[in-house]
Amino acid sequence: MQSDIDRILISRDEIQQRLDQLADEIAADLRGEQDGGAPAEITLVPILTGSMIMVSDLMRRLPLRMQIHLVSVTSYPGEATTSRGAAIEEALTSLPDSLESRHVVIVDDILDSGATLELVTSLLRRRRPASLRSCVLLRKQREQPPSVEADYVAFAIPDEFVVGYGLDFDDYYRNLPDIVTLRRDLLPPEEPA
Ligand code: 5GP
Ligand code: MG
Repeated sequence: MQSDIDRILISRDEIQQRLDQLADEIAADLRGEQDGGAPAEITLVPILTGSMIMVSDLMRRLPLRMQIHLVSVTSYPGEATTSRGAAIEEALTSLPDSLESRHVVIVDDILDSGATLELVTSLLRRRRPASLRSCVLLRKQREQPPSVEADYVAFAIPDEFVVGYGLDFDDYYRNLPDIVTLRRDLLPPEEPA
C-alpha cells in the first residue's frame, strides 16, 4: 500500500493541528448562536463514508452537547475518479423527520463539484433546522468553482485526486493516515475534457 503513494500532500500532523483551530472556530460560532442560557448544542451530520475519520477526530474536539445523524451519498461508482452526480443511499441514512431547533453542521471529506453538499443541504433544509452549516476537510481549487461553498474548509488543495484519512479509491486506501496522491499508473486514464 505504501508503495502506491506518489506524494504526501497533507501530513497527519498538519491535519491534527488544523482540526484544533477548526473545532475552536465551530464551537465559538455555535456558542454565539445560542447564548440564551441553555448549554450550546450541535447536531453533526457526517456524510459517509469518506468523512468517518475526520468526524471522529473533530467531534472529540467539540465540547458541546452533541447528537450525530448519518447520511450516505454515492458519487463515484467503483474505480471512477470523477464525480458522476450524487445520490442518497437510503439504507445507510439515519435522519430524524424534523431537525427543528437544532444547530446542524454537515461534515464531508471533500468539496469538488458541490453536487454532494448541495444534495445533503436540501435534504436537511426540509427538516427545518435552526441553523445549518457545512464543514469540509478539503476543497478542490477547480477551474470551475463548486455549485455551493462550505462554511468551514480545513485545506484548499489543487485539482488532483487524493486518498487517505478516510478518502478512497475503489474503496481502498481510507486507512492511510496522511492525505496523499496515488501513482499515476494506478489511476484510470484521464478523460478528455
Ligand atoms: P462533489 O459531489 O462535490 O463533486 O464531490 C464530493 C464527493 O466526491 C466527496 O464526498 C468524495 O467522496 C468524492 N471526491 C471528490 N474528489 C475526490 C478526491 O480527490 N478523492 C476522493 N477519494 N474522493 C473525492
Ligand atoms: Mg464522499
